[in-house]
Amino acid sequence: MNKLSNESISLCQPDKTKSCGACCGLYNYLWGDRKSLKEKLLIRTELYRSLKGDEEGSVENYSRIIKAKEPREKLYEVIYNCEFLGFVDDENKKVGCLLHPALNRGKDLRYHSFYGQTLCRDHFCPSYQHLTGQEKELVVLIIDDWYLYGQIITDIDIVKSFFKEVSDMAGETVSPDLVRFSPKLKDIGFRFFSLKVRWPFKDDRKRRFGKYFFEGWEYRLDKIDYQSIGSQPSRYHQIFLSLSSSFRNSWELREAERQVEKFINDFSREYIKLTGKR
Ligand code: SF4
Ligand code: SF4
Repeated sequence: MNKLSNESISLCQPDKTKSCGACCGLYNYLWGDRKSLKEKLLIRTELYRSLKGDEEGSVENYSRIIKAKEPREKLYEVIYNCEFLGFVDDENKKVGCLLHPALNRGKDLRYHSFYGQTLCRDHFCPSYQHLTGQEKELVVLIIDDWYLYGQIITDIDIVKSFFKEVSDMAGETVSPDLVRFSPKLKDIGFRFFSLKVRWPFKDDRKRRFGKYFFEGWEYRLDKIDYQSIGSQPSRYHQIFLSLSSSFRNSWELREAERQVEKFINDFSREYIKLTGKR
């Protein structure tokens, strides 16, 4: 929702190519595919822009119309799906708050929201604290897509696990300065993180988001049952949890490991090649 000072990167609105709206409920829908979310955000954005003339009445009117129009199919009941999340740029690449002062001639209209002005303005998700400055910068460098970006920047496990594996192979912490000037590294990283939205071993039987699954007002950490397929826990267990995986047999597990390992190897080899040129 806002920018923090101790790491100069804003994870919420890092640059012109993407942004995040996860804590405003962006992914908290049963039908959370890109097309459905984009349609929803476009309708909100267009309506908000069209109603802007009479400010106070407009916001209330907007809220009433959107709430009546949108189905209430939430993934997790406890999280509020804010109707004021829309696109905040002309190219519809950045999701964000329609009530933010930047969109309302300097007036902060977030007091109209469910969470209220103070919480909306001052909230920072755990990624601000738990990702290192380098990890934040790497994700921002690698992902230029709002739909994927919000899912990855809020998934501390997948970010840490991937860069730890790569750093172990490279023999040093992955440097954003090397990745910044390497289209190839960015491409490998982007394709790895894109597994989040096209993972063939994703468990669609439960209401899942990453490693969590939801039952009404409850949420739990999911498990991967390695024993039932006669296997040991995978070295990529954290990554598999983040990808909401389930495996029907040991062949599927091995194939999943092969796919993840290939990205890690490809990224590491290219990185090592570039470190030799420094
Ligand atoms: S989930 Fe985190 S990065 Fe995303 S909008 Fe909220 S505070 Fe910002
Ligand atoms: S009003 Fe608050 S919860 Fe709603 S989109 Fe804006 S920042 Fe997010």
